[in-house]
Amino acid sequence: YKEHDRSMALVEQAKRVSNEFDFDADHVRKAVKEFIREMDEGLHTTGTELSQIPTYVTAVPNGTEKGLYMAVDLGGTNFRVCSIQLHGNTTFSLTQSKVAIPRELMVAKTSTELFSFLAKQIEAFLKAHHEDHYFSHIKRRETGDKATEEEIFNLGFTFSFPVQQIGINKGLLMRWTKGFDIDDAVGKDVCALLQTEIDALHLPVRVAALVNDTVGTLMARSYTSPGKTGTLLGAIFGTGTNGAYVEKLDKVTKLTSSNDSGAYDKSTGEMIVNTEWGSFDNALRTLPNTPYDTELDAKSVNPGIQMFEKRISGMFLGEILRLAIVGLLKDPKLPFLRDEHSAQNDVHSTTQIHDDSPIYNQWGVDTSFLSICAGDHGPSYQIIKQTLDRDYGVSAVSAEDAEAIREIAGAIGKRAARLAAVAIAGIVINTGRLNSPTAGATTEQKEGIAPPRGTVESSGKGDIPEEDIIDIGVDGSLVEFYPGFEDHVRQALREVEEIGETGEKRIRIGIAKDGSGVGAALIALVAGRVA
Ligand code: ADP
Repeated sequence: YKEHDRSMALVEQAKRVSNEFDFDADHVRKAVKEFIREMDEGLHTTGTELSQIPTYVTAVPNGTEKGLYMAVDLGGTNFRVCSIQLHGNTTFSLTQSKVAIPRELMVAKTSTELFSFLAKQIEAFLKAHHEDHYFSHIKRRETGDKATEEEIFNLGFTFSFPVQQIGINKGLLMRWTKGFDIDDAVGKDVCALLQTEIDALHLPVRVAALVNDTVGTLMARSYTSPGKTGTLLGAIFGTGTNGAYVEKLDKVTKLTSSNDSGAYDKSTGEMIVNTEWGSFDNALRTLPNTPYDTELDAKSVNPGIQMFEKRISGMFLGEILRLAIVGLLKDPKLPFLRDEHSAQNDVHSTTQIHDDSPIYNQWGVDTSFLSICAGDHGPSYQIIKQTLDRDYGVSAVSAEDAEAIREIAGAIGKRAARLAAVAIAGIVINTGRLNSPTAGATTEQKEGIAPPRGTVESSGKGDIPEEDIIDIGVDGSLVEFYPGFEDHVRQALREVEEIGETGEKRIRIGIAKDGSGVGAALIALVAGRVA
């Protein structure tokens, strides 16, 4: 390439690659239709792409809930114990402790070793933070009196591994993930495993609810949200993506009497359903597919599964960008991340990428880099250049190179947000919230104006009557930190005919932090009501 042609070639190539990530209005609409089809299919059949797991939680809070609850969270690396005081005015206080789970317990011979460790952490937490409560219970036990109902903490157990939930506090471990491997726990009820060890220490704690983090997000948002109508959807866009929403109980037709434990409150006529939407459209009927998506999937640990998640969430977007960058590097004549040296008439170029750059390694690029790209508006792209130099072993990057990377990264982020909108649109439309605004509203309505509480929120402009608001709680680094994520979501929502500009304005999206703390506590509360 000649000098001018060379820079034109890079601009063209960057455009070509970013166009591969286009997901236009027509595609969005087709995908929404498919999402609705899979939602309905999952409600009456098992083993479908959208699992649509019944959670046995049949009401969302309205902010007036009160009381002291406990929550524990067994995620990947840490075990978190907290107590939550719900003040009944949409606010709460939370005390927590966190310990790293010792590696040897993740692969222990028996589940007892892990779960007794967890129970000991609960005991230590009670001694440290609820001393009165703990010792009065011990004393009572010594005198042979039974603990009073008030002395017992109801606990919500957030357990972030695949479980087959069969009751509000009952779920069978399907398999371990994230480096855990304890054979004898598979197929067992994880709530019972924890309760057994809690009882062995005679702690005044009842495992009242098994909690999925998306349900926790929905509950946390509904408690803290200022609206009169309960929250419709809790969604996570973090390492992975998933959502849980409020469904009409009579639509959950697969809850037949044979597998219906019956121990839940049916009076609300609703049940929260965990969609497991990460596996939406695994068959790629409507999802976009680029060569980068194909390669990422082929080299993943679970090819063909979680295909929606692989186009949306934090675990994967960085890798898609990396594969696109590596694709451009394959053309040795393209002046992309190359230093040029001319000797006589001969132009040599050498790459500016160090041999040990993470750009050459699978999973080497973190999704936070996409946020950095989206946040640097140029024209010199100092922040992108610095990040490439500091974190990715690429030195002396030109503004043209940075701009090319930024364009591709932006296309990947935009596509992710538009896909997120598919799920949101499908749920908003299929639940009928656009037609009957208060369907699914909590029965008791809050009085007065809720005080401000540290949540970020937004809805389309204009004065929307409170009862017309469709409230959505979201959590996760991607939605929290990727610049413009929500704007892209909203743009796509407007492009769906059933929603349009009027519908989009009614949708309020707010960050709901701490689903595994306050959300789990709220589920323990709801569970306690029917226990
Ligand atoms: P989790 O989902 O595991 O609870 P997070 O919500 O923090 O945790 O999500 C972590 C994921 O978000 C990781 O995949 C990480 O690459 C990605 N991530 C971290 N920081 C950012 C950022 N600033 N912008 C976009 N993605 C990010």
